[in-house]
Amino acid sequence: MSSLQSLIDQVDDSINEIIHMNQELIKIPSINTGYMPTGNETLVAEFLRDSLLDDGISSNLIGRDPKRKNFISDYPSISDKTKLMFMSHTDVVPVENEEKWKFDPFSGTIHEGRVYGRGSNDCKALLTTQMMAFKILKRNNITLDYGLKLVSGADEEHGGKWGFRWLAEKHPELITSDYAINEGGSVSIQADNKLILSIGVGEKGRLELKFKIKGESGHASTPWMGKNASFQLGKLLKNLEDYKPEIITTLPFFSHLHNFGIEEKIDSSNFDKLIDRLDKSYPLVSSLSKALSQMLITPTMVQGGIKSNSIPEEIILTCDIRNLPFQKIDYIISEIEKISQDIDGLTYDLEYMSDPNESKFDSALADAIIESQSIIQNNKEIKWIPLHSPGFTDSTYTRRLGITTYGFYGSDPQDDATLNNIHGTNESIGIASLISGTKSMLAIAYIMCMNKL
Ligand SMILES: [Zn+2]
Repeated sequence: MSSLQSLIDQVDDSINEIIHMNQELIKIPSINTGYMPTGNETLVAEFLRDSLLDDGISSNLIGRDPKRKNFISDYPSISDKTKLMFMSHTDVVPVENEEKWKFDPFSGTIHEGRVYGRGSNDCKALLTTQMMAFKILKRNNITLDYGLKLVSGADEEHGGKWGFRWLAEKHPELITSDYAINEGGSVSIQADNKLILSIGVGEKGRLELKFKIKGESGHASTPWMGKNASFQLGKLLKNLEDYKPEIITTLPFFSHLHNFGIEEKIDSSNFDKLIDRLDKSYPLVSSLSKALSQMLITPTMVQGGIKSNSIPEEIILTCDIRNLPFQKIDYIISEIEKISQDIDGLTYDLEYMSDPNESKFDSALADAIIESQSIIQNNKEIKWIPLHSPGFTDSTYTRRLGITTYGFYGSDPQDDATLNNIHGTNESIGIASLISGTKSMLAIAYIMCMNKL
């Protein structure tokens, strides 16, 4: 029987294969524009199927659309009860301006210890590490005691309607598991010689708010004959700019700020002062503190007017709302009412795009993640922070099914995360993180699914 340490050591011997896997995935341009036909994730799923088949592991491709299939593989195990699911996604966001890229975004070029390409990081890095963990386990002839799944969904970048959302609604039996590990909320910060890692335990919600301001159209040469909605828009934008969201510091993240030199209890009375301090020493922690302490309403799009010589009859202002898990719909509406009460001719529509969601931090999977890093980083002093993520992932759908789901990546703490550029120009992943990520997935699977019967 291979020990966990010998499995971890084999990852170092597999560097070339790990890099190659990431490059091959980047070379399949599974771009998701959000508008059908798009994605072509089936090509990625077929690559994954063929690759695992080389190691004698079978898998299943299933989807709403033949070109947008999801990838599901069950690792051989004694029990048919799945304990852990590896999650990731096969689609990538479009490339905005290829001219600005240092390398062809679908080449997987290696430069200064990193692999460059759209999706190299989000989410084909996590997918690479999960695939390699499967392969290394199998090459050691390991049959797990409890079930381990690898599910890579289509369409994560546009809400999962062809991916995890569809699987959760139509085929929940295919993604049933006690625990799952996914992207989102995993950061590493070095503070005064201490290594601080986070586990993504939840996500803020997202709503789309559309304000409609009605005016009265008329000729621009006699503006007094109409009622120009633009001026009400101006007032509304000013209200949004002046809006001071309530500061609430009850998420578990705020009880861990002592790791960053904040000894006082942070609340609305000292918030700005302490954020100023964090801004100088830990800008990432400062930004997270702002995002995780308040509901944000951000204007993102304006539409209105039909002709340059006509007074607009109607203007629509779209806003993005990010709410905390305990901020329910009544609260959101009361805040919108406060912002918009003095605007003439205003109505609004509010649509939930994703619910806030969370899993408990105290669990066997959290213990396994913590144990895996103390082995891999050879560091028993790591400090851990439960983190809600300001953004959205597929974890919302698995948490809804009652699966304890965490965001954790296992990236190398020495890797410069500012070069990741997820969704941006020159997206990349450090090769060191592909290695430590593979070790992490291997160790977490081993701890969760072996010798526990
Ligand atoms: Zn992603």
